Amino acid sequence: MRSVVLASGNRGKLAEFGAMLAALDLDVLPQTRFGVTDAAETGLTFIENALIKARHAARATGLAALADDSGLCVDALAGAPGLYSARYAGRHGDDAANNARLLAELASMPDDRRGAYFYCCLVLLRHAEDPSPLIAEGRWYGRVLRAPRGAGGFGYDPLFLPEGLTVSAAQLDDASKNRLSHRGLALQALLQRLRDERLHHAILP
Ligand code: IMP
Repeated sequence: MRSVVLASGNRGKLAEFGAMLAALDLDVLPQTRFGVTDAAETGLTFIENALIKARHAARATGLAALADDSGLCVDALAGAPGLYSARYAGRHGDDAANNARLLAELASMPDDRRGAYFYCCLVLLRHAEDPSPLIAEGRWYGRVLRAPRGAGGFGYDPLFLPEGLTVSAAQLDDASKNRLSHRGLALQALLQRLRDERLHHAILP
């Protein structure tokens, strides 16, 4: 089994990515196991930030590296909070404050102008100098509710009404969310890319 370092210390992501990539005989290890600290996310797009994180982890460990970057993009706010989703209200990871700011920004918006999508990009670098990383994206479309609904999930889930559903993302069970979500879609796309590439040549050294 080949090892891939995950450029994140998040346990939830490790479990989710690890379970999916085990099917391809890849063992996903958190960067914290190698003493790798977080890279500065200085990019202006999700893809740039995922590349920065993956390259940092690949360089530090000598292994292939997987990184993700995600956030909520609101049409009426020109894509905000976007890259800054985790710290929209100032403090990193303050979900309640972030949700309160989002509601305030959209207070005057009618339902038909509350469109938004979650975005996730996944990057797999075979090594730190890999010139052609595998990049997979996922988008989950919906709209921003006027008040939170549900107690599950995290982040903006209680305010996100997925297209075609009558419940918020915070009211979905884990399996349903993983199937529909931006992260789930990006993972499925990455797996497909890995399978396709393997038909032609070994993906990892
Ligand atoms: P990260 O890429 O995991 O750091 O996510 C950045 C931020 O985007 C999170 O802190 C959340 O605010 C938001 N976010 C990303 N994915 C989700 C999701 O599935 N549900 C709710 N919020 C999310």
